[in-house]
Amino acid sequence: MSNRDDERPDENPASTKSLHDDDRDPLGLSPQVPSDIPRGLDRRKFIMRSAVISAAAVMTGCTRSETERTAPPPTAESPQTVATSGTGAGPVVPLSPDLDVVKKEKGPVLTTVDEFYKVGPGPSSSHTIGPMRITYDFYQRATKLPADKLAKATALRVNLFGSLSATGKGHGTERASLAGLVGKEPATVDPKFLDSLRDKPDQTFQVKLGNKSIDVSLKDVIYDATKGDFKHPNTMTVKLLGGDEVLLEQEYYSVGGGFIEWKGYTPPKKNPPKYPFKTMKELRTYADDNKTTIAKIMLANEMSITGRSEQEVNAFIDKIINAMVATVKSGLSMSEDDVLPGPIKLHSKAATVYKRAMDDKYEAERGIGALSAFALAASEENGRGHLVITAPTGGSAGVMPSLVYGLLEVRKVDRQKIRDGMLAAAAVGYLCKHHATLSAAEGGCQAEIGVASAMAAALVATAYDAPSLVVENAAESALEHHLGMTCDPVAGYVQVPCIERCAFGAVKAWTAFAIASNEIASRHRVNFDETVVALAQTAKDMNSKYKETSEAGLAQSVTLC
Ligand code: SF4
Repeated sequence: MSNRDDERPDENPASTKSLHDDDRDPLGLSPQVPSDIPRGLDRRKFIMRSAVISAAAVMTGCTRSETERTAPPPTAESPQTVATSGTGAGPVVPLSPDLDVVKKEKGPVLTTVDEFYKVGPGPSSSHTIGPMRITYDFYQRATKLPADKLAKATALRVNLFGSLSATGKGHGTERASLAGLVGKEPATVDPKFLDSLRDKPDQTFQVKLGNKSIDVSLKDVIYDATKGDFKHPNTMTVKLLGGDEVLLEQEYYSVGGGFIEWKGYTPPKKNPPKYPFKTMKELRTYADDNKTTIAKIMLANEMSITGRSEQEVNAFIDKIINAMVATVKSGLSMSEDDVLPGPIKLHSKAATVYKRAMDDKYEAERGIGALSAFALAASEENGRGHLVITAPTGGSAGVMPSLVYGLLEVRKVDRQKIRDGMLAAAAVGYLCKHHATLSAAEGGCQAEIGVASAMAAALVATAYDAPSLVVENAAESALEHHLGMTCDPVAGYVQVPCIERCAFGAVKAWTAFAIASNEIASRHRVNFDETVVALAQTAKDMNSKYKETSEAGLAQSVTLC
């Protein structure tokens, strides 16, 4: 389109106005800047924000009310506004060096599959499963208090800080926290219980502590300060109160992937691994020197650390594989008219994508479409708050199940090969946790979908009997091409971009395997350990707005009608 008309001198000098003075914009994109600039915002930032919002509104046909457009930046008092109206820099929380997730950088990897692959309700391992495990832990501690102390108890109180406060509403953090307080565990909770808390938020429950029964409700879970001097971005406190007296208090941290710590935490004592390793290079060297696979080294470590037999380890892995298959099946069975919970009103699309992909003329397109649909299915289950598996997190819960389902149910790959793949994938996840992070609040989406994709690439390569170097290269490649990916869930809900992002993570995992298994492996230029260093460094350097605060990116540009 020509701009020449706009360049023509105004024939009526009396009406001359610069574009900046005029509310009208030939493209209809000029920001409608309200006259009142909210306190705490400088004019430039405010105009920029209004410009983004107005442009999005014009493009989507949705508009924001004057109230929404002039809303002040989020504060600790109004955490629910964070997801859609934020302009601040987000919680800048340097990790405390005494956290175990930070300290463990120095020793060998001691994580085990039952700690790593966790079944629990979606949508987030750090904001749903972690808080639920935390309040359940506190509930158990409280039951062990002396009877005279419990006799004084009158209330339980949960305070959420940092990212848990900033985006907790969209993750159902308050419902998960309450569920743990009333004695429910993530792996066995009926998701309908959590749904009922959403549908009837005024319900009161009785928590039995000794001879005392204490009433608790969602009002006892408080969205507190989003910014402050916290040991971890996902910090929360739980208290048992006797009137004004604090009878028991514990500060906790949900450190990513459903893992939790607390103030004064010391990791459980474990047996030494048979093959101690801190890097992929060391792990792969054990495999190569012993003329075996990464998976077999991991199995030997698993058995030596936990004291479990091979059958017991396999039984646990089978449980996880079956849960992954179930989550894909359940997601695919949902009606195309199903709408996910929350303000986005996102329609379920896994079944549609699958059906239409099956009609594609070309096999390759059918494959990519099907893989995407499997990932969408499991990820939509996560969005519904149904049971998912942390691999490594809830937000990324569609990636690994997509590949597991595709290999086991479609390609009919032998189950033992899938078990081996799950162990190699776990090694990839452990190393990322050990040296970088699995928490979006610490490292953005590269730490979730990026790690999941790397794990899935290792799974596929292992399932197809690739040599250990190819397994490493595939994982490296998948991780490398997620570096820098930010986390900015719209309205704080793990749906946009998360659900489609799982599909991309799955397809990228296959791409990484395709490249790694077809290139000359020894010429692969970047090794996995180098990429994990880049992941950790990028996490540190990433602007905190992009670390699960919903204060930037899509969370700001997408307008909800
Ligand atoms: S954007 Fe990525 S990291 Fe953030 S919530 Fe979604 S899946 Fe998780």
